[in-house]
Amino acid sequence: MGLVDQTYADSGPLSAKQLKNGILKPSTTIVSKKAIIAGGSLGGLMTGIVLEASGLDVDIYERFPKVLDDRGAGIVIQTETETFLTQYGGLKPDQTGVWLKYRQYLSHAGTEDSYEEMPQLMTSWGLIYRALRSAFPNERYHEGRTLNGLSQNKNGVIAHFEEANPIQGDMLVGADGSGSFVREQLMPEVKPRYAGYVAWRGVVPESSASRNLIKTFVDCFTFQQMKRSHILCYLIPGADGEIEPGRRRLNWVWYWNVPESGLSELMTGVDGRERDFSVPPGQVRAELFEKQNAIAEKVFCPQFFELWRATESPFLQPILDLAVPRMVQGRVILVGDCRVHPSPAHCSKHSQGRRERPGSQTSPPRLSKRSRRCAQGMGARSAFAGEASRTSGQVAR
Ligand SMILES: Cc1cc2nc3c(=O)[nH]c(=O)nc-3n(C[C@H](O)[C@H](O)[C@H](O)COP(=O)(O)OP(=O)(O)OC[C@H]3O[C@@H](n4cnc5c(N)ncnc54)[C@H](O)[C@@H]3O)c2cc1C
Repeated sequence: MGLVDQTYADSGPLSAKQLKNGILKPSTTIVSKKAIIAGGSLGGLMTGIVLEASGLDVDIYERFPKVLDDRGAGIVIQTETETFLTQYGGLKPDQTGVWLKYRQYLSHAGTEDSYEEMPQLMTSWGLIYRALRSAFPNERYHEGRTLNGLSQNKNGVIAHFEEANPIQGDMLVGADGSGSFVREQLMPEVKPRYAGYVAWRGVVPESSASRNLIKTFVDCFTFQQMKRSHILCYLIPGADGEIEPGRRRLNWVWYWNVPESGLSELMTGVDGRERDFSVPPGQVRAELFEKQNAIAEKVFCPQFFELWRATESPFLQPILDLAVPRMVQGRVILVGDCRVHPSPAHCSKHSQGRRERPGSQTSPPRLSKRSRRCAQGMGARSAFAGEASRTSGQVAR
């Protein structure tokens, strides 16, 4: 028998309604008592909060020895995440992010190719992380603990952590991200696959942005489509979750094709270390930035080029595809990025639709023909609006 009702475990992402009515269905049978979670980022925290609220004893073990750092990037928030943050994260609806009113596409000359009303809620990784972290009991969140072994039988699961005694539990949740140790143990044949393109990313504080940048980007989810590439920009809360005008940030993402053979060079930072999943702010080498800058100068419209130039420390991530054949294996469950890592191309449909802003009386219009064409016609690899929350466990960056 599984740990939780199989229909729940296999039922896919939770809907906003399910979240509102309580996470577990009334019929759900909980037969476990102690849950061990490996990984204390968004996936681990969300799972921990849900299991705690369902009456389990939960401990989260996070590899990093201190509070995780914001990589400073944005997330397009979906209804499930917003509901979760208000229901379980202790936030009021207006604290979950910043609302944008319009969506626009700019031409190479910087003129509007399309402009229409399409409200959307945007937030930042840091805001979500801080809300979840304070909603989970601090004494049950253990920093500096790396899972390095696991075994299970019909009575329970045993988790081994570096330099510590093994811990016994009734279930183990693998929330340890793209390079998951847990997944590697259960299904070593499943590996993330490079999708053929990278995301250059960056933020510009609203307080240091020029009038031109503010006029162009502040109230709009803005795109520029280029040959086999696109860039997008949206407003996100400030570094400490500020949502007041003047204290927010402009967040941009530029999808760019890079052959696999060029990846190793790109992923090697100033410190000479080659990274698998992201080159953080401050680590992108000057010569690579200059090379990309020359491309930016050619392909961007004036507003996006100004935004790119105004960014102090751009960073980059390769886009990876990953999907596990199953989430549950005996007493071990995989959640978040360690189980599915769809590239933005696969997520576009999740973020295309307009969101209904609370209190809005109007009915949602469909995307204009022009926007739909833009959305569908993006470069072969990079796709429309990859910005969609992974936090609800269904879509990516
Ligand atoms: C510090 C940090 C900052 C991020 N910033 C952004 C951002 O700004 N924008 C954005 O879109 N996405 C960001 N991400 C990625 C984002 O969190 C994920 O894409 C998504 O939310 C899914 O989260 P996850 O918890 O499944 O995986 P991840 O966020 O990747 O978290 C996995 C966690 O597991 C821990 N871990 C790994 N191996 C072990 C182990 N063996 N034992 C114990 N713990 C382990 C890692 O240290 C990490 O904290 C960030 C991730 C991290 C870790």
